[in-house]
Amino acid sequence: METREMTCINCPLGCMLTVTKDGDTVTVTGNTCPRGEDYGRKEMTDPRRTVTSTVFVNGSDAVKVPVKTKTDIPKDKIFAVMDVIRETRAEAPVNIGDVIVHDIAGTGVDLVATKDIAVSAN
Ligand code: SF4
Repeated sequence: METREMTCINCPLGCMLTVTKDGDTVTVTGNTCPRGEDYGRKEMTDPRRTVTSTVFVNGSDAVKVPVKTKTDIPKDKIFAVMDVIRETRAEAPVNIGDVIVHDIAGTGVDLVATKDIAVSAN
C-alpha cells in the first residue's frame, strides 16, 4: 500500500489530497469536488503534464517562438522533451498551431507553436 499527500492544482482552492493505492484500488480524500478525485487518481497512476517552453527561431527578428505540447505527456518524459526543445531550431515564418516537432521524444504528442512569428524585416 502506498499513500501520498498532494495539492490539487485544478483550481485556486488548492485542496490537500491524500491518495492511497492498494493494489488496483486508488482512494482519494480531501478533495472538495470530483476534479480533485480525478487529479489524485491520475497523479498516482499516470501523472502527466503539458510542457510549455520556447524554441530558437531562424530568419526572424524574434529570437524564440513560444511552444507547448499539444496535449499532456507522461511526467517522466519531461526532461527528454526539454532536451529536444533545446536542440530544435524553427524557421520563420511560424504560425500559431504549426507543428515544430512531430512525436516529440517518442511521446506520440506534437510540439506546436503558440505565437505567430514573422520573417525578418531585413
Ligand atoms: S478538489 Fe476541486 S475544489 Fe479542490 S482544488 Fe481541486 S478542483 Fe479545486
